[in-house]
Amino acid sequence: MSKLRFATAWLGGCSGCHMSFLDLDEKLIDLADKIELVYSPIADVKEFPERVDVTLVEGAVANLDNLKLAQEIRARSRLVVSFGDCAVTGNVPSLRNKLGVDDLLTAVYHEGPGRHPTGGDAIMPRLLPKVLPLHQVIKVDAFLPGCPPDAERIWIAVSALLAGEPVVLEPSMRTFG
Ligand code: SF4
Repeated sequence: MSKLRFATAWLGGCSGCHMSFLDLDEKLIDLADKIELVYSPIADVKEFPERVDVTLVEGAVANLDNLKLAQEIRARSRLVVSFGDCAVTGNVPSLRNKLGVDDLLTAVYHEGPGRHPTGGDAIMPRLLPKVLPLHQVIKVDAFLPGCPPDAERIWIAVSALLAGEPVVLEPSMRTFG
């Protein structure tokens, strides 16, 4: 039986959702029998691949790099899961861009004492005017809230997705809870 092509991605989040994913511990070995991990910060693959079956997306959409990756994920994934509260609601990252973080970064990297590194605009992705939850940018197939979602709930969700089982329906969103 061919393995499902599985991905995880990290946008504007703290990586805590990925840490919770790693808390699956020995269940990761069971998972490895069923999936091929084709993209993840854990695997350090540079380009998001084609023909992905399931992608868990951690974090909100905070800058142009996040936006581009979210659009690639949607175009190349059969199922996209909004993974954790930052992706589902924007959470803490949603507070920041409107506070003038872009100005702060410019001051630090272009006008600060060391002026280092130079070329900040080229090496730092441009911030969006507002940090957005994932479903405001791309269509999302299921939501897995929590900050972070605990490992047991991640396991329930991933097991259901891999088995092709329907997700639980709640008002206005499909969610695992
Ligand atoms: Fe971190 Fe919580 Fe956001 Fe996950 S939902 S990326 S744990 S802040």
